[in-house]
Amino acid sequence: MKIGLEIHVALPTKTKLFCSDSTEEAHEPNVNVCPTCMGFPGSRPTLNKEAVRVAKSVSIALNCDITNRISFIRKVYFYPDLPKSFQITQLSECIGKGGFIELEKKKIHLRRVQIEEDPARIIRSEGHTLIDFNRSGIPLIEVVTEPDITTEEELRETIFTLRTILYYQGIDINQEIKADLNISLGTERVEVKNVTGIKNLISAAEYEISRQNAILLNNGKIEVETRSFDEKSNTTKSSRKKESDEEYGFIFEPDLGFYSTEDLETTPVEMPTRAAFELARSHNSSYKTILELIAFDKDALGILYKYEKKYDFKSLIATLEIAKRFNETKDANVFEELLKLVINGIAINQETVNKIKKGERIEIRKFSKDEIDAAILEMLKAEKDIVKRYSKNKNVINFIVGTVSRKYGIQPRDVIKRVEILIDTLQKVEV
Ligand SMILES: [Zn+2]
Repeated sequence: MKIGLEIHVALPTKTKLFCSDSTEEAHEPNVNVCPTCMGFPGSRPTLNKEAVRVAKSVSIALNCDITNRISFIRKVYFYPDLPKSFQITQLSECIGKGGFIELEKKKIHLRRVQIEEDPARIIRSEGHTLIDFNRSGIPLIEVVTEPDITTEEELRETIFTLRTILYYQGIDINQEIKADLNISLGTERVEVKNVTGIKNLISAAEYEISRQNAILLNNGKIEVETRSFDEKSNTTKSSRKKESDEEYGFIFEPDLGFYSTEDLETTPVEMPTRAAFELARSHNSSYKTILELIAFDKDALGILYKYEKKYDFKSLIATLEIAKRFNETKDANVFEELLKLVINGIAINQETVNKIKKGERIEIRKFSKDEIDAAILEMLKAEKDIVKRYSKNKNVINFIVGTVSRKYGIQPRDVIKRVEILIDTLQKVEV
């Protein structure tokens, strides 16, 4: 199986790509518009330097070679959302070439990163087609991968990693991700166009994999085609047979000419994947755990850097997991107090966090064996079927330990020591 992605990401600029209209969400249709983004004859585009600068930064973060002299092309086709009959995009002289998204065990190579304009939005209602030009001309980058993704797991990891990298570049694509998906299980390539949202992207891939698998199992032939994703049924439907770049007319965009990117200063930004790789290597820890903790949370990465040399790394990671559960990664001092408690084996609950935030001292309380037993027995009696579940699945012990230590603030390791003994005793009594 081979999967390639073309992911469209809106760039966080204040104005559109070729005019000075605002990119902000408007409450009314067709308010952030001008002759340029509505494609009036005679209007001319002016390139938004900030959009190119952000695109260059993203391309660097994605390990691309940066093109020093970029140009644009007109991708000619007619559609109601594009009244000038062409979309301004990039081809051979695009901002970033090559590059890769580094996963834990492999690299997903990139073909290119290109800058392009978003078309207008089409709204179909009651037999009419309405067009809203607020979106027309919003700057996008398109990240095009090689078909290097070979499993659903890699697809998830690729999207997660890309999202993390973009987040560290100041771009949050949580729900707005728009992508085309190329999937081939056999030799023929099927494209699923315009899938919106991460959940839908995964569903579209899952459906397409099982559909193509079924055809191959029946010795059928997979047709080269473009399909669309239907959110309601979670399936894909054939929309066009075969479509390739040759069917579009591509011509050089003379109004924009060439643009030098050399002097554009990019903001040096932390590379989250690199940070996770280095931290994992130097502390013999898990890359995946670290990346998940620091993804979409720059404070968490700051905390790891601040305390990695001062404290035991395992405790640091454990505390960060707890701090994230209570949404407490902003304040490094509060975090350090939590960390000291964790190192002392103190379980942390919301009350503990609140006390630390108020500056109160947390007593490191020691529980006697009888107190620990009483706490465990109370929990076992409250959850009637838990002993039965435990006899079938020993992992239930984690749930018991977690619940008891959170509720009473007893060290998990002290609870573990007693749980098995107490369950055994209980089982004997029941027999
Ligand atoms: Zn405009």
